[in-house]
Amino acid sequence: MNNEQVEKFGDLVSRADRILIISHIRPDGDAVGSLIGLGLILEEMGKEVNFVLEDGVPKVFHHLTGSERVIREAVGVFDLVIVVDCSDIDRIGSVLDEYGEPDVNIDHHPTNTQFAALNLVKDDAVATVELIYDIAKKLSYPLNLPIAEALLTGLLTDSLGFRTSNSNPQTLRIAAELQEIGADLPELYRKAMLEKSIEAVKYWGKGLSRIEKEGRLVWTSLSLEDREAVEYPGRDDADLINILSRIKDTDISLVFVEQKDGTVKVSWRSRPGFDVSLIATQFGGGGHKPAAGAEIKGDLERVQEEVLEETRKSLQVNV
Ligand code: 5GP
Ligand code: MN
Repeated sequence: MNNEQVEKFGDLVSRADRILIISHIRPDGDAVGSLIGLGLILEEMGKEVNFVLEDGVPKVFHHLTGSERVIREAVGVFDLVIVVDCSDIDRIGSVLDEYGEPDVNIDHHPTNTQFAALNLVKDDAVATVELIYDIAKKLSYPLNLPIAEALLTGLLTDSLGFRTSNSNPQTLRIAAELQEIGADLPELYRKAMLEKSIEAVKYWGKGLSRIEKEGRLVWTSLSLEDREAVEYPGRDDADLINILSRIKDTDISLVFVEQKDGTVKVSWRSRPGFDVSLIATQFGGGGHKPAAGAEIKGDLERVQEEVLEETRKSLQVNV
């Protein structure tokens, strides 16, 4: 993302009245925070904004002002279509089927495919909200409390509470400024990252009970049967991967989550020195060096075997 691109974005916004903002399926805190943060900024500027997430806003983010504005389908005609925190067009789901190529793509994934007319991509940013914050600063866009809360949520969730190796002084400076606007960091952290439903913790129990470790590789799976047994309502791993990645003496951890549509959602996490986004890309997914994911067709056992085989190979290759 360079200054010229930011100016161009400013021009596009100033000429638009009706704006559609979307992000990826199975949205995380950065997807939701970027979408709500930028959407509220544009509304403050007098734009008519449609906030769309095909999967809606996960319950853990319902406390954010603006989450109630998010709908699951785009309706009508727009002057400007913006996609945030999404590395490739397939991850949008079907929201844009009737709309064609998006105008703007704002993202921080190294695996971004530059799918829009204007691509604002910064792959060393901790989160997409960091780009939104930079854009807002450069173009003197308004920031207020709900916007600060949305942006800080994205920063906290993608940096795992400033724990990821790409967290840096600028990450903390942005967080400090958002706190100064009034965002309650400990409370946002607790709501988005610490608190778990009893069903989610029971779901972890299912996965943890069959955890496997082979050398410096750790993995487990969650089946549809597990999900039903504990009545877990989501189709994600309830952040189990973040527990696995804390296990000592491991380099790569994985969680396999069986899905109803005959696919398996795979999450990889790795220590510095490894690049799991390369493996994820091989399977049609993407992400970052230390955290990546993919949705792979096939049954749980077969996908697990194939993915483990490729992952074992990549354990031999340091980056
Ligand atoms: P998670 O494992 O938490 O779902 O995702 C880790 C990282 O990989 C995130 O940056 C996320 O955006 C990316 N990611 C997860 N699943 C997919 C996928 O199916 N496709 C792509 N392109 N990226 C993914
Ligand atoms: Mn992100």
